Amino acid sequence: MTGQEIRDMDLKYNLHSWSKQKGLKPLVITKAEGIYLWDSDGKRYMDMSSELVNANVGHGNKEIVEAIKEQADKYCFLSPGFAVEPRAILAKMVIERMPDNMGKVFFTNGGADANENAIKMARLYTGRYKIMSRYRSYHGSSFGAGNISGEPRRYALEPGIPGFIKFFDPYVYREAISFDSEEAATKFYLAKLREQVVYENPSSIAAIVMETITGSNGVIIPPKGYLEGVRKICDEFGIMMICDEVMAGWCRTGKMFAFEHFNVKPDIVSFAKGITCGYVQLGGVAVSKDIAAFFDDHVLSCGLTYSGHPLACAAGIACLKYYDSAHILENVNAVGAVLGELEEGLKEKHACVGDVRYIGLWSAIELVKDKNTKEPLVPYGKDEQGVMASIVQSLIRKGFYTYSHENMIIVAPPLIITKEQLLEAMDILDGVLGEVDAMI
Ligand code: PLP
Repeated sequence: MTGQEIRDMDLKYNLHSWSKQKGLKPLVITKAEGIYLWDSDGKRYMDMSSELVNANVGHGNKEIVEAIKEQADKYCFLSPGFAVEPRAILAKMVIERMPDNMGKVFFTNGGADANENAIKMARLYTGRYKIMSRYRSYHGSSFGAGNISGEPRRYALEPGIPGFIKFFDPYVYREAISFDSEEAATKFYLAKLREQVVYENPSSIAAIVMETITGSNGVIIPPKGYLEGVRKICDEFGIMMICDEVMAGWCRTGKMFAFEHFNVKPDIVSFAKGITCGYVQLGGVAVSKDIAAFFDDHVLSCGLTYSGHPLACAAGIACLKYYDSAHILENVNAVGAVLGELEEGLKEKHACVGDVRYIGLWSAIELVKDKNTKEPLVPYGKDEQGVMASIVQSLIRKGFYTYSHENMIIVAPPLIITKEQLLEAMDILDGVLGEVDAMI
């Protein structure tokens, strides 16, 4: 099929996510290798968002492809009630990479159902029903996960689920108060959270769910001591701490899991994306030994036909092995340091860059009309002129593939990117930010 034929058929029969369908013009991608994508005209793009921040090891990884083929030759599917080798091995590998309080894994198809099952388990374990989560968050688009998400993508699901409560996250850049230190910010946000917990009746709260580091909503890194403080509040009131590591986990931040940057051990961890890097879809929930032991004598009321699909588990095993054998964490820390330096440079140079936030190979560039007032380049939830879409289009035309959220450009390349490749990509970004400077 020609590129045009593929696009026409796609648009005739497929519904595309999060979009008005009319006027869509999806790129037709026909080849993907390493950090690169090629369209049907042979034009090359650098995948600077790792697709949806999940293609951590890039495209066409031979080890993972071989592992899937080998598994497919043995058997593709056996239902979750059976004990099968790939599921057993991967669960062991996941738990071995978690803190020592973690006990067992329940596999899912992706991130949303990982969060759905995480909150179900917290409710079953605590016998409580309330779930607290944050406004600036995305936890998936299914009904439960969509309702713990706080950002505008939850609106379509409203009215929300009773007992699902939101609180504000520590977004220091846009806080009305200016803090003297990170510690002062932490103190403020923790006091607010504790007050809200008390007012919500702590004995009804099953869990506090947080992206360890907020991803799509702008790579918001918690200030020093914040997560430790949330852990303390959870301990004080018997609330489960659920860390959503769907985007943050699996080496993205320069550690295997983002919570390792802080001195905390969650009770429950949801994960997906980078466990298989999209070679086959997979997610999961890791629970503490205490929670796992609870389900020795209580029914685990959770189930999915494809829980721990053997092909996905084979991909997961190969992927986790690859993170180790290719020294991915070392690369993330080395090239990530360059990314941080370059972004600080962009912030200094460009009038439109209000803030840059980065950790490992994960970052957001927040665009403003005015650095002093911090007025966002587009009003919250209302980019009616499609300003951000046109900036992203300009990047893509120049071979820098990524996406934006609100007034932020996400830069999160595959974790195998070299310094030279990064420099080439960031040059393109520099040029496009110059265009935005001229626009404001
Ligand atoms: N949680 C976080 C932090 C995410 O970023 C996402 C997706 O981007 C999800 C959950 C949902 O994952 P999925 O799209 O696999 O359902």
